[in-house]
Amino acid sequence: MTQPDAELPQMLRMVLDAPRARLRAEHRPLPACSGTEVLIRVAACGVCRTDLHLQDGELPTATYPRVPGHQVVGEVMAAGPHAALMPGTRVGVPWLASTCGDCRFCRNGQENLCENAHFHGCDVDGGYATHMLADSRYCIVLDAHLEAAQATPLLCAGLIGFRSLRMAGAARSIGIYGFGSAAHLITQLARHEGRRILAFTRPGDTMAQDFARELGAAWAGGSDEPAPEALDAALIFAPDGSLVPRALGDIRQGGSVICGGIHMSDIPAFPYARLWGERQLRSVANLTRQDGIDFMQAAADAGIRAHITTYPLEQADDALDDLRAGRISGTAVLLCDEHAQRGAPGLAGEPHG
Ligand SMILES: [Zn+2]
Ligand SMILES: [Zn+2]
Repeated sequence: MTQPDAELPQMLRMVLDAPRARLRAEHRPLPACSGTEVLIRVAACGVCRTDLHLQDGELPTATYPRVPGHQVVGEVMAAGPHAALMPGTRVGVPWLASTCGDCRFCRNGQENLCENAHFHGCDVDGGYATHMLADSRYCIVLDAHLEAAQATPLLCAGLIGFRSLRMAGAARSIGIYGFGSAAHLITQLARHEGRRILAFTRPGDTMAQDFARELGAAWAGGSDEPAPEALDAALIFAPDGSLVPRALGDIRQGGSVICGGIHMSDIPAFPYARLWGERQLRSVANLTRQDGIDFMQAAADAGIRAHITTYPLEQADDALDDLRAGRISGTAVLLCDEHAQRGAPGLAGEPHG
């Protein structure tokens, strides 16, 4: 990684100046942290489909220029006077950057719905960078043995998948629509819990179908194929609204369809009979800090192993392009420090020590 001025400690960050722009590499001095902030040396940052929505201008609350990235693993380098974390602590930085603590949702244990929340890589800078600032109260303390690149997908894909799976209640037979980052992690947890997974991919995407079967899916096929059996629940991770009536038609009476994406194309009209029979349709929004704690434990118990494809930080645009084109199985991960780029340790090792 190049540093134009060796005199001052510098950081490199990849900046999205406006919707539909390419990323711009920017060197700047390391920021100071104040209050409850910590300065984090980023080891790795996962690439999420939401980053594509940021690039496409599809996130209504996003502001630009913005550094994307909300699946960050790094180490606390410096701490503000009121920070809750010590330098040297291994942390994860998720989507939720801060909440107000005061609105009806915060007071009701639903901080994921906070009316005044901020989000990393959306309206606060994220982890497509060698360093970033984060509010220590919203960082997730990670096991020091977790390998950085391996752990990044847990921080959004895993967490949203986890929240979606929990909303499916005790469902035994679950259809997953869109088999990418979230699906590949949560399939492992669902299998660990003894559930049956049926994976629906883009029609003809035999790579994703093989991948789903390798992870223990009982069946995998295209989203244009009929479900081979009635489902107790459906989790939709693909941003395709036409999957909603489709999934409602695949579930039993009393079952749920849960939409895990932050953005989806319009849902076509469908006959009421598809919702009848106490079928439920709901979305999953953001995460709470408790979700982070609960999921990291569940992931460790289930031995979830992320499948990752790594890129140097400066090739973040390539990672976004590959994700958009469906060329990645599992999760794309940016290696953000020189050490990680040299060793590329994300390609080996178990996620939990
Ligand atoms: Zn995400
Ligand atoms: Zn709030």
